[in-house]
Amino acid sequence: MVLAQNLRIRLYDGVATKELQCVVGTGEYLLEIHQSDGVIKSYLLPTFAQGRIKVNNSNLQFFQGANLLGQGIKITLIQGAKEDFINWSVPLVSSKVRAYESDFELTVVKGQIQVINHVDLDTYLEGVVSSEGGSGHQKAYYQAQAIISRTYALAYQNRHQKEGYALCDRVHCQAYLHKRSGSALIDSAVYQTHQMVLKDASGKYFPTFFSANCGGQTCPPQDVWNEPISGLYSFVDTFCIHTKQANWQKRIPLTTWLDFLTANYDFPIADSTAMALLQDFQSINRSAFYLHPVYGIPMRDLRQEFKLKSSFFNVVVSGQEVVLSGKGFGHGVGLCQEGAMQMAKKGYNATQILEFYYPGAVVVKDAHSPTKE
Ligand SMILES: [Zn+2]
Ligand SMILES: [Zn+2]
Repeated sequence: MVLAQNLRIRLYDGVATKELQCVVGTGEYLLEIHQSDGVIKSYLLPTFAQGRIKVNNSNLQFFQGANLLGQGIKITLIQGAKEDFINWSVPLVSSKVRAYESDFELTVVKGQIQVINHVDLDTYLEGVVSSEGGSGHQKAYYQAQAIISRTYALAYQNRHQKEGYALCDRVHCQAYLHKRSGSALIDSAVYQTHQMVLKDASGKYFPTFFSANCGGQTCPPQDVWNEPISGLYSFVDTFCIHTKQANWQKRIPLTTWLDFLTANYDFPIADSTAMALLQDFQSINRSAFYLHPVYGIPMRDLRQEFKLKSSFFNVVVSGQEVVLSGKGFGHGVGLCQEGAMQMAKKGYNATQILEFYYPGAVVVKDAHSPTKE
């Protein structure tokens, strides 16, 4: 089989993986245990006893049931045919099973098993769209998500180059928590948008940031990351204001709130004018700062300190508490997922959704994107 250009995706990034379990889901896998002076080969089938991989100093041991098949510095698992997959789990951490297709390479890095999935771009994207978008949405939304996730993967495929892989499986890059979602709709959305990416007028990959819900107004990038990003700015989004993550509320003890403000921003609690301002802070539109323009306390800092869903909220003092009433979920920059899902429900197509959230971007077929075999 001639492989298309494959990506190296790190699985279980940030998870303690001293031991892993694997069972072939469908098909047949070639197991190779690489030793300094040779390779032990074996085949794995769905009916076989569960495989267990354990760290033993700088080596990996492969057990089948109770039998040690061998140990070596590297273990590879090669799929027999496309769509064959393996069910993985980390017994010491959780019993949750993650199914992934394609090939795997396992080595010991810093005393843990590093699992790399060698996977073609579109198969990876099927997992990403499912992980990032969830189930039960319209195809146009999945197509839009596929295009932005493909753009992101191609733009950032050297992000973890120093560590020896392209992208990790966490939201740091893009969530890739499983492959098999059971959704043929997602797989066909990826297939139908094959090679499609978003570019700006100068032909560069467009910065396809997205978040769960913008709260009715997207956030300017500089309010999140201090620097503007060409092509991304703040605008009103009415598609997301009645969705699941549209509103949130949180109560915090007034003393906790004031302690944070005085310790970090010298907020003068003895000053009655300042305290009066604090009684009622309304952000009708997104504001970068709390109590602006008198005090420049970044909303972003408050979000981080108090683990708030967004940086778009009102603050009212009620007795010995502050009541925060917020809008949206996530940083709010770029595409708003719940807004995009609503647009798809109303009949907008993927291009219309992308043009709304990324004004100035164009959907193009990317010659650098690998072709189908
Ligand atoms: Zn990453
Ligand atoms: Zn929105």
